[in-house]
Amino acid sequence: MAGLPAVASIAAHTVDPQVRNRGTFGGNLCHNDPINNFPPLAVALDATMHATGPDGDREVDAAEFFTGYFSNALDRAEVLTSVTLPALNGREIGYQEIEIGEAAARAVAVVAAGNGTITEARVVLGCLAIPARRQAVEEALAGAATTLDSVAEATSGAGDGIDPLSDPDASSEYRQAMASVVAKRAVMEALGGQHE
Ligand SMILES: Cc1cc2nc3c(=O)[nH]c(=O)nc-3n(C[C@H](O)[C@H](O)[C@H](O)COP(=O)(O)OP(=O)(O)OC[C@H]3O[C@@H](n4cnc5c(N)ncnc54)[C@H](O)[C@@H]3O)c2cc1C
Repeated sequence: MAGLPAVASIAAHTVDPQVRNRGTFGGNLCHNDPINNFPPLAVALDATMHATGPDGDREVDAAEFFTGYFSNALDRAEVLTSVTLPALNGREIGYQEIEIGEAAARAVAVVAAGNGTITEARVVLGCLAIPARRQAVEEALAGAATTLDSVAEATSGAGDGIDPLSDPDASSEYRQAMASVVAKRAVMEALGGQHE
């Protein structure tokens, strides 16, 4: 993880030192609890999952790996052996969540920018059955100014079409309403700017 210090800082959001010291990166991905920190990061970075089983080795793109609450694309006899996280190549990571209970809403942004303009962005929401890449938001961000107003406008539809669960921590409606908030904050964090 030396080339991706953001992974360590995101791990720091995991509940407490005991869980952080015992849980594994791969187990966090395989478990796919909607409150887990790493599934949306894996999708945002376009990670590749390497699995092995009785029929040999195979690779699964992160976008195809998460199949529902506590579910993944591995067959019953397969294990995840490693995960490839692509280099950032000048992009920056932003990670934001609303901590009500374990987490009410979460977003990861991977953004490239220069001369006051966003050139490329990936935005993925967590706290869902399957981490949700927000392609309409990404298209709105590409070419937008790196200002808070511009980013807020481009991310305003981040919650469109998502179907979060209601639980004792937060209602589905609240989680959906917070999607644009965490998306905006994650993009601004990746840009190194203030998000309020
Ligand atoms: C009290 C508590 C609070 C937590 N809070 C957070 C939090 O705030 N944020 C967060 O991100 N996570 C949180 N977690 C989850 C934790 O960080 C671990 O990611 C999670 O418990 C998985 O742990 P593990 O790696 O030991 O996997 P296990 O518990 O051993 O496995 C979890 C599941 O994944 C499968 N699995 C594990 N490894 C593999 C593999 N290599 N190949 C195939 N299948 C595999 C197992 O069969 C099992 O179904 C919390 C956990 C607990 C107990």
